[in-house]
Amino acid sequence: MKKEIVLDDQKVTYTLRTRRNARHIRLSMYPGGEFIVTVPPYVQKSTIETYVHTKSAWVLKHLARLKQLPKPLLRKNSRAEYITHKQAALERVTRRLAYFNQFYNLNIGTVRIKNQKTRWGSCSKKGNLNFNYKIALLPDHLADYIIVHELCHVGQFNHSRNFWNLVGQTIPDYKILRATLKKYQ
Ligand SMILES: [Zn+2]
Repeated sequence: MKKEIVLDDQKVTYTLRTRRNARHIRLSMYPGGEFIVTVPPYVQKSTIETYVHTKSAWVLKHLARLKQLPKPLLRKNSRAEYITHKQAALERVTRRLAYFNQFYNLNIGTVRIKNQKTRWGSCSKKGNLNFNYKIALLPDHLADYIIVHELCHVGQFNHSRNFWNLVGQTIPDYKILRATLKKYQ
């Protein structure tokens, strides 16, 4: 449940989570600025707010820092989230593969969207391509880089100089994008 609280004149949004096995109020913050307050059942709203207020300096300091960092997209992998984004991911990947393959003209196998923890995409020797459903949540330029990367593996099944040259033909700034993408993991 989304809640709002004013700490030191600043409006702060947090997610309130009730957990049966929680023994006390717990505050957690994540890159991107997500702030979660976990509480045991039956804790009063006023108790929660008072507790957060006593920690306000600490909360504000860390939230300010964490807001600068991109959300780590590969962190959560719930089934529900996968179902929610799978179709959008498939549509995006299919559309952009068709677009870039006008240039490369490679023989693409089956394209699938997967719920993977650590990878954005993969390519099999047969040219079947798998993509992480979280590609649906990325900005266009990063999604395109991943799509072209896997597409180029159909032509070059390695990370050789030839492979990177192939990628660079449609994504000239792939080195920067690759570095940016690492920040999302
Ligand atoms: Zn690769």
